Amino acid sequence: MTATLTIAIDGPSGSGKSSVSRAVARRLGVGYLDTGAMYRALTWWCLERDLDLTDAQAVAAAARELPLDIGTDPDDPTVSVGGTDVSEAIRSTRVSTAVSAVATNLEVRSVLRTLQRDLMARAAEQTGGVVAEGRDITTVVAPDARVRVLLTASEEARLRRRSAELHGTADAAAVEATRDQVVRRDRDDSTVSTFTEAAEGVVLVDTSELDLDESVEAVLDVVAAHTAEPAE
Ligand code: C5P
Repeated sequence: MTATLTIAIDGPSGSGKSSVSRAVARRLGVGYLDTGAMYRALTWWCLERDLDLTDAQAVAAAARELPLDIGTDPDDPTVSVGGTDVSEAIRSTRVSTAVSAVATNLEVRSVLRTLQRDLMARAAEQTGGVVAEGRDITTVVAPDARVRVLLTASEEARLRRRSAELHGTADAAAVEATRDQVVRRDRDDSTVSTFTEAAEGVVLVDTSELDLDESVEAVLDVVAAHTAEPAE
């Protein structure tokens, strides 16, 4: 039997991990799991229900009950909650601003981690592999993944990219408006996950000077180097 190919990719906001991970999954013909979308979907649901995000028990209970449906096809990574398509709503500033409060709840992390492992296993079973991306995939969710990559980029490059994505421009005002979504969010997220330094065995890929295609090639090179070796 051929071993399935599990690829774990972590990185800070604006490192390019979602676009790169999706493209890598597409190129390899395997599944794709955006774990950030799961934290975002839960945050959206809590906000919809007017839950107090500082009420750790209520938010953890919401995580256990979350009627989440997330697709793992890299060409169509759908996200819906209770039958409502939330793929756009979860990218709103409201959700981006609130998500760290939900993601720093340790009980929430435990519930979502179990779900993430199940989704990864299912996608790998269906397609022969999976690319899962987030903040703690290389270290906590799938530390035994065949390939583990930490995508980084300078703060300047990350701010510029997110700003262009959110505001269509990277002028000074737009970059300032994006700062909360990149710098503050990563600082809050860093209290529960390590994604600024590569853990042992995790390959660092710096995308500061690379465009999307070059970043994808860089990760595919890491995958090729690892899959050339026999699996342990
Ligand atoms: O990757 P993305 O920016 O969509 O992630 C949204 C948020 O989800 C992050 O800011 C973080 O709070 C949380 N997250 C996490 N662990 C992951 C993936 C995302 O805590 N594995």
